[in-house]
Amino acid sequence: MALIVQKYGGTSVGSPERIRAVAQRVAKWRRGGHQVVVVVSAMSGETNRLIALARQIDPDPDSRELDVIASTGEQVTIGLAAMALRSFGIEARSYTGTQVRILTDSAFGKARIVEIDDARLRADLDAGVVPVVAGFQGVDAAGNITTLGRGGSDTTGVALAAALHADECQIYTDVDGVYTTDPRIVAEARRLHTVTFEEMLELASLGSKVLQIRAVEFAGKYQVRLRVLSSLTDPDLPLAEESVSGTLITFEEDEKMEQALISGIAFARDEAKLTVTGVPDRPGIAYAILGPVGDANIDVDMIIQNASVEGTTDFSFTVPRGDYQKAMAILETVRTHMGARAILGDNRICKVSMVGVGMRSHVGIASRMFRTLAEEGINIQMISTSEIKISVVVDEKYLELAVRVLHKEFGLEQAG
Ligand code: ASP
Ligand code: MG
Repeated sequence: MALIVQKYGGTSVGSPERIRAVAQRVAKWRRGGHQVVVVVSAMSGETNRLIALARQIDPDPDSRELDVIASTGEQVTIGLAAMALRSFGIEARSYTGTQVRILTDSAFGKARIVEIDDARLRADLDAGVVPVVAGFQGVDAAGNITTLGRGGSDTTGVALAAALHADECQIYTDVDGVYTTDPRIVAEARRLHTVTFEEMLELASLGSKVLQIRAVEFAGKYQVRLRVLSSLTDPDLPLAEESVSGTLITFEEDEKMEQALISGIAFARDEAKLTVTGVPDRPGIAYAILGPVGDANIDVDMIIQNASVEGTTDFSFTVPRGDYQKAMAILETVRTHMGARAILGDNRICKVSMVGVGMRSHVGIASRMFRTLAEEGINIQMISTSEIKISVVVDEKYLELAVRVLHKEFGLEQAG
């Protein structure tokens, strides 16, 4: 008997039929003798609808109130899923984040989980009840409802799995696993049977939407065994088959390292670049520029600073496109104080990255990537590398082309 946390995403609970299919699937796992905790997202499109509704009242909604509103989608699906389970003869009980007591900090809209009280869930499990927990939401120490950031139900699932020391956290979604790249861009993209946790972290941070990045971080930190699998298969698919389907995120690097140099090509469309030119080249400049940006809770990604001959330097970095205007405004306010010449920006860039633990033991991959892009006339604006990743910033109009030629060059369509 295993203890499994199953998280079902928005499309998996997108209609009454789908919710019934979830219940049927959970019932199968229960019949197989397993204990199950279910975490659900809101019905697909619902969170967007709620946020848009809030914006009709106030285009810049108060973050506390926005969380009160945005969290309600999950409150609906826990009730529906619990009822559906009961109709399949499974004892089930719904819980909001507050009812479980998923304690978070008070960063509305991107709260972090601090602690989970597992008492009620354990009592349910011991009594043979399936707890159905609302994803995406928590409660802060003062009792305010918080949300964990878009896609945050994944994090709820992983965090519950960690708190309960579950044997596996299964993320059921509308794709059947993690692919070498987005199959909508490259039809030959291939599903990976396993991907290492480190690779997944890179892929998720690059916008591979299969898993929320925080969920992957959480899984890494607490060594939660994580599997991504499809909720669109036959709910009565034999357990033996379902339990090995999808993509398993592993902690070992095993023989894979010998086989594949690159595991996947990820990309992030919604990026923007800011450049501060003519900054006096002296200690404290990076801090003067990035300090205020960080204080505004804007995630800075790639950073480049050029030394220059006349004692000034140019400084560039990327931010999520949604934070572009805000970052611009911040830089403008500190520009004169820094003695910088100008602030330039480009919000039509994207980032393309190759990820693979196999890179660690091979050289020359970066140059092969750059050559491949050069042959297509794609100009590289920024480069950053780590042990298992090479990322480039290019004009967004080249995104699909870049992904396609790299996928081909590195033979990712072949079985790994
Ligand atoms: N419903 C939330 C969202 O759409 C959380 C989630 O689905 O994971 O972002
Ligand atoms: Mg999701």
